[in-house]
Amino acid sequence: MVPMSDTEGVDRVSALSPPVPGEHPVHQFYWDAVREGQLKLLRCQSCRHFIHYPRPICRFCGSVDLTPEPISGRGTLYSYTVVMQPGHPFFMDKIPYIIGVMEIDEEPGVRLPGGIEAAEDELRCGIPLEVLFKQVTPTLTLPFFRPTGRQAQ
Ligand SMILES: [Zn+2]
Repeated sequence: MVPMSDTEGVDRVSALSPPVPGEHPVHQFYWDAVREGQLKLLRCQSCRHFIHYPRPICRFCGSVDLTPEPISGRGTLYSYTVVMQPGHPFFMDKIPYIIGVMEIDEEPGVRLPGGIEAAEDELRCGIPLEVLFKQVTPTLTLPFFRPTGRQAQ
């Protein structure tokens, strides 16, 4: 049997994976698509706005006719920051790292958070980004963003 915590009180099981959202029918499609290397967002079938984070009702027109649709995975860097303090044991050996928000090409104002694969001096708000998918644990794949045109590392 594997002990659940060590003498310093750090939970070894949770240290193996970053915190992840619990399963929920409203956003399960998003994680299923990410596992398949694709980004999908809910789109209102009435007014055609993308709705993110996923929720059951369109914030523009009140429709409940929302359907996941694939997006290109391209956009522009809206904002970013360099994380210096690990907020969870998983990140202890990863600091410093960069997180940011990409505004998608498909609709101004729709933004996705994610890790940024770039050196800080490569980044300026407004530069073009593209998604890449990284398997961060054996069972967890997450979307990251990098400046457009770079090769996977
Ligand atoms: Zn709508």
